Amino acid sequence: MMPDLLHNAPSEAQLLVWLDPVFGRPVPGRRRSVRKRHCCPAPACAAGRSATRGSGYNEEFMPQLLKERTALVLGLANRWSLAYAIARAFRREGAQLVLTYQGDRQQETVEDLARELGAARVLSCDVTQEADIERLSEMLRAEGEDLHAVVHSIAFANKDDLARPFYMTSREGFLLAHEISCYSLVAVARAVAPVMRQGGSITTLTYLGSQRVLPNYNVMGVAKAALEASVRYLASELGPQQIRVNAISAGPIKTASARGIKDFSKILETVTEKAPLRRPTEPDEVADAAVFFASHLGRGVTGNILYVDSGYQIMGI
Ligand code: NAD
Repeated sequence: MMPDLLHNAPSEAQLLVWLDPVFGRPVPGRRRSVRKRHCCPAPACAAGRSATRGSGYNEEFMPQLLKERTALVLGLANRWSLAYAIARAFRREGAQLVLTYQGDRQQETVEDLARELGAARVLSCDVTQEADIERLSEMLRAEGEDLHAVVHSIAFANKDDLARPFYMTSREGFLLAHEISCYSLVAVARAVAPVMRQGGSITTLTYLGSQRVLPNYNVMGVAKAALEASVRYLASELGPQQIRVNAISAGPIKTASARGIKDFSKILETVTEKAPLRRPTEPDEVADAAVFFASHLGRGVTGNILYVDSGYQIMGI
Protein backbone atom coordinates (compact mmCIF):
# COMPACT_ATOMS: atom_id res chain seq x y z
CA MET A 1 0.00 0.00 0.00
CA MET A 2 1.38 3.41 -0.94
CA PRO A 3 1.83 5.74 2.03
CA ASP A 4 -0.29 8.88 2.04
CA LEU A 5 2.57 11.38 2.02
CA LEU A 6 0.38 14.32 1.15
CA HIS A 7 -1.55 14.01 4.36
CA ASN A 8 -0.59 17.45 5.61
CA ALA A 9 -0.66 19.25 2.29
CA PRO A 10 -3.98 19.47 0.39
CA SER A 11 -7.30 19.71 2.16
CA GLU A 12 -9.66 16.75 2.22
CA ALA A 13 -11.97 18.68 -0.12
CA GLN A 14 -9.12 19.05 -2.61
CA LEU A 15 -8.32 15.38 -2.40
CA LEU A 16 -11.93 14.36 -2.86
CA VAL A 17 -12.14 16.07 -6.22
CA TRP A 18 -9.64 14.72 -8.68
CA LEU A 19 -9.06 17.24 -11.41
CA ASP A 20 -8.83 16.48 -15.07
CA PRO A 21 -5.09 16.90 -15.70
CA VAL A 22 -5.69 18.83 -18.94
CA PHE A 23 -8.77 20.98 -18.45
CA GLY A 24 -9.01 21.17 -14.67
CA ARG A 25 -12.50 19.64 -14.58
CA PRO A 26 -13.56 17.05 -12.03
CA VAL A 27 -12.93 13.58 -13.42
CA PRO A 28 -16.13 11.53 -13.39
CA GLY A 29 -15.95 8.41 -11.27
CA ARG A 30 -12.66 9.21 -9.56
CA ARG A 31 -14.39 10.60 -6.50
CA ARG A 32 -15.55 7.19 -5.36
CA SER A 33 -12.03 5.79 -5.37
CA VAL A 34 -10.78 8.16 -2.65
CA ARG A 35 -11.30 6.80 0.81
CA LYS A 36 -12.63 9.35 3.25
CA ARG A 37 -10.86 8.82 6.50
CA HIS A 38 -9.18 10.49 9.38
CA CYS A 39 -5.81 9.13 10.20
CA CYS A 40 -5.88 10.99 13.49
CA PRO A 41 -8.72 12.39 15.64
CA ALA A 42 -10.63 14.95 13.57
CA PRO A 43 -9.80 18.06 15.67
CA ALA A 44 -6.09 17.20 15.65
CA CYS A 45 -6.34 16.52 11.94
CA ALA A 46 -7.81 19.94 11.23
CA ALA A 47 -5.13 21.57 13.36
CA GLY A 48 -2.44 19.59 11.62
CA ARG A 49 -3.40 21.00 8.22
CA SER A 50 -2.17 24.49 8.98
CA ALA A 51 1.31 24.83 7.56
CA THR A 52 3.74 23.83 10.28
CA ARG A 53 7.42 24.50 10.63
CA GLY A 54 9.79 22.11 12.31
CA SER A 55 9.11 18.56 11.29
CA GLY A 56 6.00 19.70 9.36
CA TYR A 57 4.98 16.12 9.80
CA ASN A 58 2.12 14.55 11.64
CA GLU A 59 3.95 12.07 13.82
CA GLU A 60 0.73 10.25 14.62
CA PHE A 61 0.53 9.26 10.99
CA MET A 62 3.53 7.14 10.18
CA PRO A 63 3.85 5.92 6.62
CA GLN A 64 6.77 3.66 7.70
CA LEU A 65 8.78 4.26 4.55
CA LEU A 66 11.72 2.30 5.96
CA LYS A 67 9.86 -0.57 7.53
CA GLU A 68 11.88 -3.79 7.58
CA ARG A 69 15.00 -1.93 6.47
CA THR A 70 18.27 -1.70 8.33
CA ALA A 71 20.12 1.60 8.24
CA LEU A 72 23.67 2.42 9.33
CA VAL A 73 24.17 6.03 10.42
CA LEU A 74 27.75 7.24 10.93
CA GLY A 75 28.58 10.55 12.59
CA LEU A 76 26.32 10.91 15.58
CA ALA A 77 28.06 13.02 18.21
CA ASN A 78 25.21 14.67 20.11
CA ARG A 79 21.60 15.85 19.91
CA TRP A 80 22.54 18.67 17.52
CA SER A 81 24.25 16.39 14.99
CA LEU A 82 22.52 16.09 11.62
CA ALA A 83 23.09 12.35 12.06
CA TYR A 84 20.81 12.46 15.12
CA ALA A 85 17.98 14.15 13.19
CA ILE A 86 18.43 11.61 10.41
CA ALA A 87 18.48 8.63 12.78
CA ARG A 88 15.30 9.94 14.43
CA ALA A 89 13.54 10.30 11.08
CA PHE A 90 14.70 6.81 10.04
CA ARG A 91 13.35 5.40 13.30
CA ARG A 92 10.05 7.24 12.78
CA GLU A 93 9.83 5.47 9.41
CA GLY A 94 10.37 2.07 11.01
CA ALA A 95 14.05 1.42 10.23
CA GLN A 96 16.24 -0.74 12.42
CA LEU A 97 19.27 1.39 13.31
CA VAL A 98 22.97 0.70 13.58
CA LEU A 99 24.87 3.75 14.84
CA THR A 100 28.55 4.61 15.02
CA TYR A 101 30.45 7.28 16.93
CA GLN A 102 34.01 8.51 16.78
CA GLY A 103 35.55 7.31 20.04
CA ASP A 104 35.51 7.06 23.84
CA ARG A 105 34.81 10.76 24.37
CA GLN A 106 31.40 10.42 22.69
CA GLN A 107 30.54 6.93 23.92
CA GLU A 108 28.28 7.79 26.86
CA THR A 109 26.30 10.50 25.04
CA VAL A 110 25.82 8.39 21.93
CA GLU A 111 24.85 5.28 23.89
CA ASP A 112 22.17 7.34 25.70
CA LEU A 113 20.86 8.65 22.37
CA ALA A 114 20.99 5.17 20.88
CA ARG A 115 18.83 3.86 23.73
CA GLU A 116 16.37 6.68 23.15
CA LEU A 117 16.28 5.82 19.45
CA GLY A 118 15.92 2.10 20.11
CA ALA A 119 19.02 1.37 18.01
CA ALA A 120 19.86 -2.29 17.47
CA ARG A 121 23.65 -1.76 17.57
CA VAL A 122 26.08 1.03 18.49
CA LEU A 123 29.78 0.86 17.92
CA SER A 124 32.81 3.06 17.87
CA CYS A 125 34.32 3.78 14.46
CA ASP A 126 37.08 6.31 13.93
CA VAL A 127 37.31 6.56 10.15
CA THR A 128 41.03 7.34 10.27
CA GLN A 129 41.57 3.84 11.71
CA GLU A 130 41.50 1.11 9.07
CA ALA A 131 40.98 -1.44 11.89
CA ASP A 132 37.77 0.32 12.98
CA ILE A 133 36.33 0.23 9.47
CA GLU A 134 37.34 -3.42 9.15
CA ARG A 135 35.61 -4.16 12.51
CA LEU A 136 32.46 -2.42 11.27
CA SER A 137 32.56 -4.47 8.09
CA GLU A 138 33.07 -7.73 10.04
CA MET A 139 30.24 -6.90 12.42
CA LEU A 140 27.85 -6.25 9.53
CA ARG A 141 28.87 -9.50 7.83
CA ALA A 142 28.58 -11.49 11.07
CA GLU A 143 25.02 -10.22 11.61
CA GLY A 144 24.18 -11.97 8.34
CA GLU A 145 21.43 -9.46 7.63
CA ASP A 146 21.11 -7.22 4.62
CA LEU A 147 21.89 -3.53 5.01
CA HIS A 148 19.59 -1.21 3.05
CA ALA A 149 20.69 2.33 3.83
CA VAL A 150 23.86 4.08 4.94
CA VAL A 151 24.29 7.71 5.97
CA HIS A 152 27.79 9.18 6.10
CA SER A 153 27.57 12.35 8.19
CA ILE A 154 31.24 12.89 8.96
CA ALA A 155 33.62 15.79 8.39
CA PHE A 156 36.59 17.37 10.08
CA ALA A 157 39.22 20.06 9.49
CA ASN A 158 41.62 21.73 11.89
CA LYS A 159 40.01 24.79 13.43
CA ASP A 160 43.01 26.93 12.44
CA ASP A 161 42.43 26.03 8.79
CA LEU A 162 38.88 27.38 9.04
CA ALA A 163 40.04 30.74 10.34
CA ARG A 164 43.09 31.75 8.30
CA PRO A 165 43.48 32.28 4.53
CA PHE A 166 43.09 29.12 2.44
CA TYR A 167 46.55 29.50 0.94
CA MET A 168 47.99 29.09 4.43
CA THR A 169 46.55 25.57 4.78
CA SER A 170 49.28 23.15 5.84
CA ARG A 171 49.94 19.92 3.95
CA GLU A 172 48.99 17.99 7.09
CA GLY A 173 45.74 19.97 7.56
CA PHE A 174 44.81 19.53 3.90
CA LEU A 175 45.35 15.76 4.01
CA LEU A 176 43.53 15.36 7.33
CA ALA A 177 40.44 17.22 6.09
CA HIS A 178 40.36 15.13 2.93
CA GLU A 179 40.97 11.85 4.73
CA ILE A 180 38.13 12.31 7.22
CA SER A 181 35.65 14.29 5.12
CA CYS A 182 36.08 12.58 1.76
CA TYR A 183 38.16 9.40 1.71
CA SER A 184 36.08 7.97 4.57
CA LEU A 185 33.06 7.81 2.24
CA VAL A 186 35.05 5.63 -0.16
CA ALA A 187 36.28 3.38 2.67
CA VAL A 188 32.78 3.08 4.13
CA ALA A 189 31.25 2.31 0.72
CA ARG A 190 33.80 -0.50 0.28
CA ALA A 191 32.95 -1.89 3.72
CA VAL A 192 29.18 -1.82 3.33
CA ALA A 193 28.66 -2.77 -0.33
CA PRO A 194 29.03 -6.55 0.28
CA VAL A 195 26.18 -6.52 2.83
CA MET A 196 23.87 -4.35 0.71
CA ARG A 197 22.83 -7.52 -1.08
CA GLN A 198 19.46 -6.19 -2.27
CA GLY A 199 20.95 -2.84 -3.28
CA GLY A 200 20.09 0.29 -1.31
CA SER A 201 21.22 3.80 -0.67
CA ILE A 202 24.38 5.53 0.55
CA THR A 203 23.91 9.20 1.38
CA THR A 204 26.50 11.73 2.46
CA LEU A 205 26.29 15.34 3.63
CA THR A 206 27.90 18.20 1.75
CA TYR A 207 27.82 21.99 1.64
CA LEU A 208 27.68 24.78 -0.93
CA GLY A 209 31.29 25.68 -0.07
CA SER A 210 32.24 22.92 -2.55
CA GLN A 211 30.97 25.07 -5.46
CA ARG A 212 31.32 28.65 -4.24
CA VAL A 213 33.70 30.53 -2.02
CA LEU A 214 32.28 31.04 1.45
CA PRO A 215 34.28 32.93 4.07
CA ASN A 216 36.48 30.62 6.16
CA TYR A 217 35.09 27.36 4.72
CA ASN A 218 38.48 27.02 2.99
CA VAL A 219 39.94 23.51 2.97
CA MET A 220 36.57 22.05 3.88
CA GLY A 221 35.14 23.45 0.64
CA VAL A 222 37.87 21.71 -1.32
CA ALA A 223 37.26 18.46 0.59
CA LYS A 224 33.51 18.72 -0.10
CA ALA A 225 34.22 19.20 -3.83
CA ALA A 226 36.22 15.95 -3.72
CA LEU A 227 33.40 14.32 -1.74
CA GLU A 228 30.82 15.31 -4.39
CA ALA A 229 33.04 13.96 -7.17
CA SER A 230 33.42 10.75 -5.14
CA VAL A 231 29.62 10.48 -4.97
CA ARG A 232 29.50 10.44 -8.78
CA TYR A 233 32.26 7.83 -9.16
CA LEU A 234 30.76 5.61 -6.47
CA ALA A 235 27.28 5.97 -7.99
CA SER A 236 28.63 4.92 -11.36
CA GLU A 237 30.47 1.88 -10.00
CA LEU A 238 27.89 0.66 -7.47
CA GLY A 239 24.86 1.34 -9.68
CA PRO A 240 24.93 -2.12 -11.33
CA GLN A 241 24.47 -3.58 -7.80
CA GLN A 242 21.46 -1.25 -7.39
CA ILE A 243 23.32 0.72 -4.72
CA ARG A 244 22.52 4.41 -5.15
CA VAL A 245 24.93 7.07 -3.91
CA ASN A 246 23.80 10.65 -3.35
CA ALA A 247 24.59 13.71 -1.28
CA ILE A 248 22.45 16.23 0.52
CA SER A 249 23.83 19.76 0.40
CA ALA A 250 22.42 21.21 3.60
CA GLY A 251 22.09 24.88 4.38
CA PRO A 252 24.01 26.15 7.42
CA ILE A 253 22.79 24.70 10.72
CA LYS A 254 24.27 25.29 14.17
CA THR A 255 26.06 22.08 15.12
CA ALA A 256 29.39 21.34 16.81
CA SER A 257 31.14 21.16 13.42
CA ALA A 258 29.58 24.40 12.19
CA ARG A 259 30.77 26.20 15.31
CA GLY A 260 34.33 25.37 14.27
CA ILE A 261 33.99 27.72 11.27
CA LYS A 262 35.03 31.28 12.10
CA ASP A 263 32.11 33.73 11.82
CA PHE A 264 29.66 30.92 11.06
CA SER A 265 26.82 33.03 12.52
CA LYS A 266 27.40 35.62 9.77
CA ILE A 267 26.90 32.95 7.09
CA LEU A 268 23.73 31.85 8.87
CA GLU A 269 22.40 35.43 9.01
CA THR A 270 23.11 36.10 5.33
CA VAL A 271 21.47 32.87 4.21
CA THR A 272 18.39 33.53 6.34
CA GLU A 273 18.09 37.02 4.88
CA LYS A 274 18.69 36.13 1.21
CA ALA A 275 17.38 32.57 0.71
CA PRO A 276 14.10 32.39 -1.24
CA LEU A 277 12.36 30.82 1.76
CA ARG A 278 13.80 33.53 4.08
CA ARG A 279 14.51 31.09 6.87
CA PRO A 280 17.34 28.86 7.98
CA THR A 281 17.47 25.17 7.15
CA GLU A 282 16.14 22.92 9.87
CA PRO A 283 17.72 19.54 10.71
CA ASP A 284 14.36 17.79 10.17
CA GLU A 285 14.25 19.05 6.58
CA VAL A 286 17.65 17.47 5.93
CA ALA A 287 16.51 14.29 7.69
CA ASP A 288 13.38 13.96 5.55
CA ALA A 289 15.50 14.30 2.40
CA ALA A 290 17.66 11.47 3.75
CA VAL A 291 14.49 9.38 4.22
CA PHE A 292 13.62 10.05 0.57
CA PHE A 293 16.99 8.74 -0.61
CA ALA A 294 16.89 5.71 1.69
CA SER A 295 13.35 4.74 0.78
CA HIS A 296 11.66 3.28 -2.27
CA LEU A 297 10.68 6.83 -3.25
CA GLY A 298 14.28 7.61 -4.20
CA ARG A 299 14.79 4.42 -6.22
CA GLY A 300 15.50 6.21 -9.51
CA VAL A 301 17.97 8.75 -8.16
CA THR A 302 21.72 8.27 -7.97
CA GLY A 303 24.84 10.40 -8.29
CA ASN A 304 22.85 13.49 -7.28
CA ILE A 305 23.49 16.44 -5.02
CA LEU A 306 20.19 17.54 -3.51
CA TYR A 307 20.13 21.05 -2.03
CA VAL A 308 18.12 21.34 1.16
CA ASP A 309 18.97 24.94 1.93
CA SER A 310 15.83 27.10 1.68
CA GLY A 311 16.84 27.65 -1.95
CA TYR A 312 19.93 29.72 -1.18
CA GLN A 313 22.08 28.04 -3.87
CA ILE A 314 20.11 29.63 -6.73
CA MET A 315 20.84 33.21 -5.64
CA GLY A 316 23.46 35.27 -7.44
CA ILE A 317 23.63 38.00 -4.85
P1 NAD B 1 28.62 17.16 13.94
O1 NAD B 1 29.85 17.74 14.56
O2 NAD B 1 27.50 16.86 14.83
O3 NAD B 1 28.97 15.88 13.08
C1 NAD B 1 30.24 15.64 12.53
C2 NAD B 1 30.57 14.23 12.88
O4 NAD B 1 31.81 13.84 12.28
C3 NAD B 1 30.73 14.03 14.39
O5 NAD B 1 29.91 12.99 14.82
C4 NAD B 1 32.18 13.65 14.53
O6 NAD B 1 32.42 12.76 15.60
C5 NAD B 1 32.39 12.95 13.20
N1 NAD B 1 33.82 12.73 12.93
C6 NAD B 1 34.81 13.65 12.82
N2 NAD B 1 35.99 13.02 12.69
C7 NAD B 1 35.73 11.69 12.69
C8 NAD B 1 36.53 10.52 12.61
N3 NAD B 1 37.86 10.58 12.51
N4 NAD B 1 35.92 9.32 12.65
C9 NAD B 1 34.57 9.22 12.77
N5 NAD B 1 33.76 10.28 12.87
C10 NAD B 1 34.34 11.50 12.84
O7 NAD B 1 28.22 18.25 12.84
P2 NAD B 1 27.17 18.15 11.64
O8 NAD B 1 26.94 19.55 11.23
O9 NAD B 1 26.05 17.29 12.03
O10 NAD B 1 28.02 17.46 10.48
C11 NAD B 1 27.59 16.31 9.80
C12 NAD B 1 27.86 16.43 8.32
O11 NAD B 1 27.01 17.44 7.78
C13 NAD B 1 29.27 16.85 7.98
O12 NAD B 1 29.69 16.18 6.82
C14 NAD B 1 29.11 18.33 7.67
O13 NAD B 1 30.12 18.85 6.83
C15 NAD B 1 27.78 18.29 6.97
N6 NAD B 1 27.12 19.59 6.82
C16 NAD B 1 26.85 20.34 7.91
C17 NAD B 1 26.24 21.59 7.75
C18 NAD B 1 25.98 22.48 8.93
O14 NAD B 1 25.78 23.68 8.72
N7 NAD B 1 25.95 21.96 10.14
C19 NAD B 1 25.88 22.03 6.46
C20 NAD B 1 26.15 21.21 5.38
C21 NAD B 1 26.77 19.99 5.56
